[in-house]
Amino acid sequence: MKDKKQGKQQKVSPKLAARKSEEAMIAGILEGSPDGIGVAVIRLDCGCRKMAAVDKNGDPASKVIIYRDQAESICDQCKADNGAFIRVQEEFIHWADPAPDEETQQMIKGKVLGIRTAH
Ligand SMILES: [Zn+2]
Repeated sequence: MKDKKQGKQQKVSPKLAARKSEEAMIAGILEGSPDGIGVAVIRLDCGCRKMAAVDKNGDPASKVIIYRDQAESICDQCKADNGAFIRVQEEFIHWADPAPDEETQQMIKGKVLGIRTAH
């Protein structure tokens, strides 16, 4: 895995930075979510991605989107379980520019990624 440093500093560990293919999706989600200050990115073990914008309170600012790179649709497993949390491999929040302060980031991470309930 490459972790090329980009000019901007972001409080995301290099390993869990958005990939090129994800950045386009993230940009699209943020564009459609005026209140969104970041996008939760969830990578599932099947290769599909789940994403949703979050607002400054850590509440959802968009619908949850599931997609699969270079595929017409998500895989059968995701169709069946809607990207169940048990299959989550990696998850992080991609912050819109400018990213919120560290405290806000932690609060939102805890709220968005810490709670493992469906819906
Ligand atoms: Zn899938």
